[in-house]
Amino acid sequence: MDPFILLAAVLGLLVGSFTNVLAYRIPAGRSVVHPPSACPTCARRLSPAELIPVLSWAVQRGRCRGCQQRISVRYPLVELTSAGLYAGIATLFPLAAVGTDGLPGLALLFAAATLLLTVTLIDLDTKTIPDGVNFTLLGLLLLGGYALPALGLPSPLLPWAHTVSGAVLACGAMALLALYAALLLRRGRERLDPSVPLGYVHVALGALVGGIGALIAQPGLALPSAALVSAAVPVVALLRGRAHLTPLLPERVILGLLPVALLSAARWGRAGDALTGILTGAGTAALICGLVWWFLDRRAAAAAARGEDAAPDTAAHDPEGFGFGDVKFAAVMGALLGGPGFLVAVLLAVMSGAAFGVFRLIILRRAGHVTRDAREIPFGPWLVLGTLLSFLWGQPILNWYLTLLGAGA
Ligand SMILES: [Zn+2]
Repeated sequence: MDPFILLAAVLGLLVGSFTNVLAYRIPAGRSVVHPPSACPTCARRLSPAELIPVLSWAVQRGRCRGCQQRISVRYPLVELTSAGLYAGIATLFPLAAVGTDGLPGLALLFAAATLLLTVTLIDLDTKTIPDGVNFTLLGLLLLGGYALPALGLPSPLLPWAHTVSGAVLACGAMALLALYAALLLRRGRERLDPSVPLGYVHVALGALVGGIGALIAQPGLALPSAALVSAAVPVVALLRGRAHLTPLLPERVILGLLPVALLSAARWGRAGDALTGILTGAGTAALICGLVWWFLDRRAAAAAARGEDAAPDTAAHDPEGFGFGDVKFAAVMGALLGGPGFLVAVLLAVMSGAAFGVFRLIILRRAGHVTRDAREIPFGPWLVLGTLLSFLWGQPILNWYLTLLGAGA
């Protein structure tokens, strides 16, 4: 075996051990570097020998040396998965082919793999994708995608323009899907949630403004124009300090206008530009709103930690098709995969997630306990799986599908 792949696997094992720490501590809002690892049951600090990935778990037969409590098999499994991912990346991008110049690009992929694994674990545990991990990952891809070629280094990522447009378009597509799904689940009525200072209505408005911006723009400038115009929506709303655009243009009216705008543009042969604009507008607004919400969440959490009582969450909640965490994660997928690769990833995620969900419901029904909680399965892990598969085989899958269409026509 290539010693470089072996080295990558060992690195993956070690980082996998740290990934367990990340997944355990980030949702709890604890530092990921301090204090050193301890047994979650008896709080005994672990010796270096107990920190050896997989091996220490196997030697101790899955029990803590101090309190004899079971240690979940998840820990070694995560370490092995991490090793597999790292070895896979090293196989895809062999050092012999990329040379030492390729090491920064490889490091970026390793970091992305670890953060993707962290997202999966945290979503499985908490059914949310943490903003901190998500935006770090997105920042890493956008920054790395720009810096590597700029420094003359080989980059395993898409050309930068595709990274940016992929992130925005994918986020926009997922945001609109979430808005329409939520509207259907509310049976067409307006939201109960107050949308102050920024709400989903601004994401919808971003889509409309982006669509119009793209139609007014010069040919070929649909995406940047839409991004620029729609970015103003949340910024203006924030500066005005309130979100009461709602009486003026209710969300359901905007969502109703979007297909009309698209169809009208199609009559003028501008459907492509309109769609680009709508998706770009929704994506840009969703990302800006997401960043603002993240900032507000952090401030609220800090206030709560200082003992100032946060306002109790008494607001009425509307049903949602899927969480906005998945929408923000779509930006990461789009940045890594580009637009077409993102579509392949979502399709694979929906198919595998649905197959698993049905299978699981059948088993649960046989066992006789189908709770409301059991019906809900986090979508994030499936999106990560789809992302990995699309990153590895997206192009062959797309080619195969296109041949299929060609053969059918
Ligand atoms: Zn213990």
